[in-house]
Amino acid sequence: MSKQTCGMIRDLLPIYAENMCSEESRQAVAAHLAECKACSEALRKMNTEVRVKADDDIAVMKRIKRRIRIEKIVIGAAVTAVLLLALWLIGFTLLNSDTEMDYNRYNLDTYVTVELDENGDLWLVRDGLAMTADMICPTLSDKNGNHFGYDQGFDKETKCGMGYTLRQRKIDAFAYTDLSLGGPVRSLICNINEKPEITYVFYYEAETNTEHVLWERS
Ligand SMILES: [Zn+2]
Repeated sequence: MSKQTCGMIRDLLPIYAENMCSEESRQAVAAHLAECKACSEALRKMNTEVRVKADDDIAVMKRIKRRIRIEKIVIGAAVTAVLLLALWLIGFTLLNSDTEMDYNRYNLDTYVTVELDENGDLWLVRDGLAMTADMICPTLSDKNGNHFGYDQGFDKETKCGMGYTLRQRKIDAFAYTDLSLGGPVRSLICNINEKPEITYVFYYEAETNTEHVLWERS
């Protein structure tokens, strides 16, 4: 077999391998391959290389798909984390925001009273839903009916009233935590012998600026 013939056949081998040459060329190449080991070997190598290249492409595709999958997981986890954080913040805010207890709705005129015992101790007594209040906010009032926060400088000469406002969690379901408690809850206000400046005690509706007198010094 002449080298020249082999050279021509080798030029044709790629399109022969792809089955894209004319019938005439295909027959010529096939006839040559039947007799020439070197060209047969060249064709075999060529087919192997094509297959290896295809395998490489599949590996690259798999790597890309895997990377896309990992990216999806990471993005999904980040979005989930942000959503959970937002939910937690909303929940935390809702659970921890409070509001003044509704005086009429919870019958505070009935369930918030004041008792004086034989020792001169004055007690704030809460019953019913008034027991579920999260906070008892004290306030002070002067002779002119002005109200002060409990920590706004106590002036014994001018302030004479002790008031209380009940506050609860904004969401009722979270406000009623102590409903299983039986009986009234008593909180010591003061001893009237030690606090002569306290002349009366009242329940204070801050939102309507209304005093409901519970006890007056006789
Ligand atoms: Zn040949």
